[in-house]
Amino acid sequence: MISEIAEIGNSVLREKSLEITNLNDPVIKELDKSLKDTLFYTLYGIGLAAPQIFQNKRAFVIALRKTPTRPDTEAFGPVVMLNPEIVSETGAKKKMMEGCLSIGNIYGEVERRSKVKVKWYDTEGKENTEEFTGLLGRVIQHEYDHLEGILFTDLADPKSLMSEREYRLMIEKKKAPKKD
Ligand SMILES: [Zn+2]
Repeated sequence: MISEIAEIGNSVLREKSLEITNLNDPVIKELDKSLKDTLFYTLYGIGLAAPQIFQNKRAFVIALRKTPTRPDTEAFGPVVMLNPEIVSETGAKKKMMEGCLSIGNIYGEVERRSKVKVKWYDTEGKENTEEFTGLLGRVIQHEYDHLEGILFTDLADPKSLMSEREYRLMIEKKKAPKKD
């Protein structure tokens, strides 16, 4: 089911999400479907957390797709992570532009560790632990922050914030062959 997405300013995005106590509850199957359906409906989204669809539960979905701003992306997922826990954040600190489905039209640079090890339960109730790097590692950290009521704009360098149009122009400029 495609859900409405909460936007910045709504208090649902600032609450700490609650642990899912019964992974076999049919409500969790519905949440799993809503997260996937809503993420794919957005076309460009690569991650979506339960509080963004007004559900105060510790769950998010990640899925990588090729988009105009990420033409070199390899497809991944969708993977829904229930009760995720960050086991470790390691590797070099890296700055990268981020956006958020709850914050329309704004992008900004956020510094994060390049490797993240995460433990989660899938909808079958199976426990998984895996290390992620690159864009996937970053998406997981961004989505995990949502469960803590943290938005990327809380972490972004304020001077790096830019509109979607400016962001696209910057990418175009980077892609253009250099003249000397
Ligand atoms: Zn977000």
